[in-house]
Amino acid sequence: MEIYQGKEGFGGIAIGHIKICRVPRGESGPFVFDQEQELLKLKEAKNQVLTALSNDYETALHKYGQKKAHEYDMQSILLQDHQLEDAIIGRIINQKCSVGKAISGAGKYLEEVLSQEADNYLRSKSHSIKELTQRLLSSLDDSEGFEVYLGEPCIVATKSLTSAELLQLDSTKLLGLFVEDSTANSHMAILAKAMNIPTIIGCEIDPAWNGHMAVLDGGWRAVYIDPDDQTICDMEERIQQKSEHDKRLMKLKGKRGITKSGRAIKIYSNISSVSEAAEAVECDAEGVGLYRTEFAFLNRDTPPSEDELFDEYRALAVNMSHRSVVIRTIDMGADKNPEYLHMAPEANSALGCRGIRLCLRYPQIFKTQLKAILRASVYGDLSIMYPMISCTKEIFQAHELLEECKRELASENIPYKDAKQGVMIETPASVLISDEIAKHVSFMSIGTNDLTQYTLGVDRENALLTDICDYHHPAILKMIKMVVENGHKHKIPVSICGELAGDETLTHYFLEIRVDGLSVLPKQILHLRKQIIEMD
Ligand code: PEP
Ligand code: MG
Repeated sequence: MEIYQGKEGFGGIAIGHIKICRVPRGESGPFVFDQEQELLKLKEAKNQVLTALSNDYETALHKYGQKKAHEYDMQSILLQDHQLEDAIIGRIINQKCSVGKAISGAGKYLEEVLSQEADNYLRSKSHSIKELTQRLLSSLDDSEGFEVYLGEPCIVATKSLTSAELLQLDSTKLLGLFVEDSTANSHMAILAKAMNIPTIIGCEIDPAWNGHMAVLDGGWRAVYIDPDDQTICDMEERIQQKSEHDKRLMKLKGKRGITKSGRAIKIYSNISSVSEAAEAVECDAEGVGLYRTEFAFLNRDTPPSEDELFDEYRALAVNMSHRSVVIRTIDMGADKNPEYLHMAPEANSALGCRGIRLCLRYPQIFKTQLKAILRASVYGDLSIMYPMISCTKEIFQAHELLEECKRELASENIPYKDAKQGVMIETPASVLISDEIAKHVSFMSIGTNDLTQYTLGVDRENALLTDICDYHHPAILKMIKMVVENGHKHKIPVSICGELAGDETLTHYFLEIRVDGLSVLPKQILHLRKQIIEMD
């Protein structure tokens, strides 16, 4: 048995076989070595790179002239003159290396040999070999891609994973997740939490684990490869204890989150799909504080139609019966980017066209969603919440589009009901003008995941920065207080719907500064309620 520790983890315990769905680029090996396959992959990668080099040569020639274009010519020659290719093929055939490993190894070897040449011209080739190797590995990565087919129930291990890829996996077969490069507050991780998948993040994956039995303990961030009988037995006992603890918590259903001294705070649920509403009701949520609607827009060729969305939101309104539901309008862009939008790649996508900015750029898609919400409001207590607000102008434009939707529905005699409008406070700018924002909306909800990323200037998806992405930073705690005070000045409620809402080390602080509501995962609701009820 081997034990490895991840950087972050959550969820319970998973026991099953590991399936590796994406392996580290360049370092991966095929799990069953197939020489023909490896040589074929090399041939495809070589052709792809030659085409790309010829295109780059033409572009550089026209834009910058012969001198600049020469580098691409040089790489093309190096790729065709057999020295590099022979070295790669030699490693595949003689050392039974994967094509990725063979390219890395041959590239590094030639780079070193050339860098020691006395002749300037030959030495300069060393840099070209380095670039060429990178190109070959990149094109290989595309063709190796991500394996979606799971077959049997398993623990998925993968180098990286986006939220759209996670949605493509069959959740009924997904016992646990093991992601090398990500963070606990990435959109992928938030989705995994919502799907109740035990997950470990930030531990190097060994391709040799494929098919091996493992125990994944999300709470302790530990993975046991080839666990012994005693470990499996201990883990099964812990699963049993957890389920008994959860049953005891169910006794708190019907009670309210009020401290012994009478301070109350509402506890809502975060959901990412309509099917999660049942769990929210089961865990006695006082409502849905954040419905992340964009997942229904991913992994498809066209955006959903108004009727499709209407059916979805009506089902949600009906399932939640009298409870309030806050529907966040699509927060797409950045890492959630469906192909049908044809968005040009952005150098800084987290600071780019996402959230409300994207909605205002694609008003037809936005209006389709707004109309569906207005129509479904007839069946329950629905509110609309706009993400990524950074100025009041965006709020006014959203208001204007909503009015347009109402006029159009009325002119077609389609029944609808007005819905309250609120905003997410997740940029430092919106915090600083929350006094002004509060005059124009019915509620504010603080998205601490993005607020932390934008305040600290730390990419929430960057695995290398988890240590400095401090969600407890005094700046964040001060900002939350400021928004609550500004909201109350204008008599509107302020909730928190980022991951911090469920952080029990801060519940006392949130009560003290009079946060009105906390929106957390369904399974966190009764834990939080117990803590609040027991508090002075
Ligand atoms: C947040 O940013 O805190 C939030 C709740 O939104 P998301 O995590 O979906 O970006
Ligand atoms: Mg956000």
